[in-house]
Amino acid sequence: MLNNMSFYNFMHKQILVLIALFASTATSYVFFGIVYSSYIIEPIWYLLVLAVSYWGYRLYRAYSDNSYTIEEKEKWLSKLRYFLFLYFSTWTIMFIVYVSRGNIELHYLAIFTQLGVSVVAATILVTEKKLAIFILTSSMLPVTIYLLLIGKFYAYVIAILTVILAWVLLYGSRNTYNYLLRNQFQAYHDYLTKLGNRRYFVELLEDAIKIQKNDSKYMYLLLIDLDHFKTINDTLGHDVGDKLLIEVAQRMKMLVKLNNSSVSRLGGDEFCILSLSYKDKDECLERAQDFALELLHLIKQTYIIDEHHLYISASIGLSIIDNPKMTASTMIKEADIAMYEAKSKGRDGVILFNDELSVRIERKLEIERLLHFALENGEITLQYQPQMNLNSEVIGCEVLVRWHNEQLGQVGPDEFIPISEQTGFIVELGYYIMEESFKTFSKWDVVGIKLNQLSINISMRQMFHTTFLEDVSKLCVKHLTPELSSKLVFEMTETSAAEDIGKLINIMNKIKRHGIRFSMDDFGTGYSSLSYLRQIPIDELKIDKSFISELDDAKKDINMVKTILNIAKNLGLTIVAEGVETEMQKDFLIKENCTILQGYYFSKPLNRDKFEEYIAVKIKK
Ligand code: C2E
Ligand code: CA
Ligand code: CA
Repeated sequence: MLNNMSFYNFMHKQILVLIALFASTATSYVFFGIVYSSYIIEPIWYLLVLAVSYWGYRLYRAYSDNSYTIEEKEKWLSKLRYFLFLYFSTWTIMFIVYVSRGNIELHYLAIFTQLGVSVVAATILVTEKKLAIFILTSSMLPVTIYLLLIGKFYAYVIAILTVILAWVLLYGSRNTYNYLLRNQFQAYHDYLTKLGNRRYFVELLEDAIKIQKNDSKYMYLLLIDLDHFKTINDTLGHDVGDKLLIEVAQRMKMLVKLNNSSVSRLGGDEFCILSLSYKDKDECLERAQDFALELLHLIKQTYIIDEHHLYISASIGLSIIDNPKMTASTMIKEADIAMYEAKSKGRDGVILFNDELSVRIERKLEIERLLHFALENGEITLQYQPQMNLNSEVIGCEVLVRWHNEQLGQVGPDEFIPISEQTGFIVELGYYIMEESFKTFSKWDVVGIKLNQLSINISMRQMFHTTFLEDVSKLCVKHLTPELSSKLVFEMTETSAAEDIGKLINIMNKIKRHGIRFSMDDFGTGYSSLSYLRQIPIDELKIDKSFISELDDAKKDINMVKTILNIAKNLGLTIVAEGVETEMQKDFLIKENCTILQGYYFSKPLNRDKFEEYIAVKIKK
């Protein structure tokens, strides 16, 4: 059906060409009428041509590519076919009139015109096979009959030639049609899977939205993205990847056929499915969810490709077409947002698009955009949270980044750090944080604020970046004495378990040459195992604040904190308790011999001036 889609537009354009051609050449018959003293038939015939032309013009005007649905276009086309038949037939009328007159010159004229009309029919009606045959026969047949009726040998030969001409015209037009069809197929289909491509899908979707607008029906859209497809491509090669895609497409096609929906490949490992329409929204939603689950199940079945047994899952975003104001691209975007949510929720699942999701994504995109300028606009500042020994003396501090944006207000690092990790901005941001805190550390040393340690949070992405080692060396040399460098602590989080541990250890060892120590942040919340802790060269453990806050809760098990403290002691690590908020927590940690304490009980994170004041007061005491 879709193959016809651009053909409607083609036919639409042809109407004007045809009207211009017929209405102008038909005037010559009025002229012949005057020359051969026939004043009635020709003008009447010409009026008929004009009337039919007007009908054609009305059809031309009525057509609208944008608001017509496929059904409406189909209806329009069938009217157009009547028009075309009538239009071409007007010439046959004139042919019969002229050959029935005695003057042989008029016979030649009529035959010539009729042949011309046939050629026009063959070229204009390329996309309308049946109509072309019908019209061609109806205009060539009278010529052939006329010749046969002459009853002479030469006329028989010409009659045969007219039949051959008709056949050649049809054959040529058929070839052109097939060529157009193949071209169109290539433009609308994916070479690998033979499914429709993005362009195909967008047109299909646009049409679906029109139907929704007219009949207020509901349809669903599934956006399917394979999980970790890239890994298969990278490890087993593109050939295997391609074969897997073909197989996945095949399975989808099979399932889609069963419920009359349609699947396309948007690109890469992304597929889209558009359903039939449903009268009821709840039914639509229910069907969508059932179908998506069935699809997930089917995709997960083993694939055997070149003797490899492969498994792959998919993440699916689902959106319902229920708003006539939607465009195809917003529809796809919604399903895309839902699909990304499915990915971040651990993949292999289905998520329905909703407004809350959209608000969150919008905010994320906004943060992403504004963060980009945060450094150059001077919106990033640093705070320092004191770290105490068991005698409540300040022995160090943790550097915590802050972002204030005019439009968004204060945005917490919990929100913007993960985003900058995803976008890669963390590399630039991390560099800035290091440089600023190094400068502060150096300045404090000069003015007599002597700390045992300055802890800086370092993201994994930042640490694995190619320039990290070089950056750290450069900044140490530029701003710090070797003695001060050896007081730095880099805090890293446990999520690193997923990273390449050999490479990580390598980087850490190189950093440690400056005397810089490492701390395992948020300990107890992540994935790190004891063996992991033993493998990587860390110096300090930070017990996550969630364990500390549980110390006040009589129902909770305080043994967890004791266990962590024991692990640290056994491994010979310094241990920092963060998030200390109450005296009771502090007393417990002192009793258990924790090394360093940090938290609101002592102080919130402070800007540089406030931190200096805080130290000054402490020293006076
Ligand atoms: P984190 O490294 O675990 O930092 C400790 C967080 O706990 C900080 O939140 C701090 O303000 C807060 N905190 C300190 N004491 C208490 C307390 O007694 N009670 C409570 N409820 N909270 C306390 P913040 O500054 O919002 O930072 C959140 C997270 O953002 C950090 O967690 C860290 O993962 C990340 N982050 C902050 N600054 C940086 C940075 O400069 N670089 C990188 N890569 N990440 C950073
Ligand atoms: Ca930290
Ligand atoms: Ca922490």
